[in-house]
Amino acid sequence: MQNEFPIYHQMLTRYAPSPTGHLHLGHVVNAIYVWGWARAAGGRVLLRMEDHDRIRCRPEYESSIVEDLAWLGFEPDEGLHPLLRQSDRRDVYQDALDRLRPTHHVYVCECSRKHVAGERYDGFCRNRGLIDASGRGLRVRVGEGIERFHDLLLGPNEQEPARQCGDLLLRDRDGNWTYQFAVTVDDMLQGITDVIRGEDLVSSTGRQLRLRQMLGGSKRPRFAHHPLILKPGGEKLSKSAADTGVRQLRQSGLTPEEVIGRAAFAVGLIAQSRPIAAREVRDLFQDRIPSPESQIPV
Ligand SMILES: [Zn+2]
Repeated sequence: MQNEFPIYHQMLTRYAPSPTGHLHLGHVVNAIYVWGWARAAGGRVLLRMEDHDRIRCRPEYESSIVEDLAWLGFEPDEGLHPLLRQSDRRDVYQDALDRLRPTHHVYVCECSRKHVAGERYDGFCRNRGLIDASGRGLRVRVGEGIERFHDLLLGPNEQEPARQCGDLLLRDRDGNWTYQFAVTVDDMLQGITDVIRGEDLVSSTGRQLRLRQMLGGSKRPRFAHHPLILKPGGEKLSKSAADTGVRQLRQSGLTPEEVIGRAAFAVGLIAQSRPIAAREVRDLFQDRIPSPESQIPV
């Protein structure tokens, strides 16, 4: 498949929020890593609205995300004008699916989430020969084998998609392209060289690498999975968290620099909380960027 964006032979990473809620400090942490790392490495940032799930996404969240990012001072190099949305790319995912069909076992699955119970799908519909219809999903058979990658922050990692998740869901029963499929196709076609995201997504990496290979992708991006802000009980922040929402912090009178400083401190990027401007986040990564021998896989 052809790249949709010019290849600059430099790092290209992405900031990819889902408009299912407002930005909170966890998103600010991700922005610090994405922009900080990219700017320190002389790279670029693409903004991608991951609104593949048409039921949970709302336009008002999309505009609030764009507005809060601008208020914070994080400027994307690509994907803002016009706004790059997964929901505008259904044909692209359909093409990718059509590409997958001749060489891989793509099949119709009517199992509900309840049936799947847990992360791994048991292949129940694999050989049932169901006809594609509304209310039915699509999966692809995932073969055995281990996916290995070197995470720039977590080190060596290996995952076994067939055991971990089984056959991957590409389109769900509501007709939405799934996160795993849409993000893999986008990262490939948009020429993303570095995927920088929270540690909660590390378990997706093996399956995305496998899907990429199944789609004929020969190059792999580098991955960096960064720490998350956890609540005192160890849970992830949620988008409804009133005390950490960027909107609430704005309304309480905090400056963008104070919000960024608070997020950086919460994950240990700085030893003491202090205001940091968006253009300064690169300074947090000057000595952390990938070494020159870690080749950019463009
Ligand atoms: Zn099934």
